[in-house]
Amino acid sequence: MTKVIKKIRENLFLVFIILCYAVILIIKPQTGFDAVKNSGYYIKEMLMIMPVIFVLTALLDIWVPKQTIMKYLGQESKFKGIFLSFALGAISAGPVYAAFPICIMLHKKGASIRNIVIILSSWAVIKIPMLINELKFLGPKFMLVRWVLTVFAILIFSWIASKIVKDEDLPKKIKEVKTGLSINKDACMGCTLCTQEYKELFEMSNKKAIIKEHSFEPDKERLKKAIDRCPVNAIEFGEE
Ligand code: SF4
Repeated sequence: MTKVIKKIRENLFLVFIILCYAVILIIKPQTGFDAVKNSGYYIKEMLMIMPVIFVLTALLDIWVPKQTIMKYLGQESKFKGIFLSFALGAISAGPVYAAFPICIMLHKKGASIRNIVIILSSWAVIKIPMLINELKFLGPKFMLVRWVLTVFAILIFSWIASKIVKDEDLPKKIKEVKTGLSINKDACMGCTLCTQEYKELFEMSNKKAIIKEHSFEPDKERLKKAIDRCPVNAIEFGEE
């Protein structure tokens, strides 16, 4: 019984949704059946798309170094990051939920909240195939005005979102974030002590410490020294 209550607590949102379906089925059976049918269709679609997305995300995670993501999509990427985020979202294909695992991976590797919001928003509303269809069915004037206003709105809302949502607010479900080595770039004050202590592992980039791409297992003693020397506890390292 305790286990069941625990499971319900852990999945409150899902339980709420199931209850909603049950209530609709009782009050308006036909609407309820239609809702179940539509949901089934989308679940089937997700089951076909998501495995491919997970494989793609895992490959990107392995192939694209953290430093590259930080440089092009991180806090310091400024206009370059904004432009690339728009481009990434606009050239994408597939439904917007496919973007979530990719965005989690990008955030884990250092992409800023603002750029994540831009990628998700442009993925949802200014994809190139969508613009082509818009041009065809609604005309160039409509497409252009809608595009300009949407880009403008995305810029404003992504800025607002970055002021409200902080990096630590995002769930850290990917193993490396929980167990690996990372630097809290908001906390890092750029004192360079960690790079002096372990120069093979840490380096400075835009006045912040970053982890060098490495294929070796970090020396525990040297890493511990670097962690201990960090005056603001910005270096995080956890093992299973
Ligand atoms: S020691 Fe800490 S604060 Fe100094 S550069 Fe390294 S991570 Fe940043």
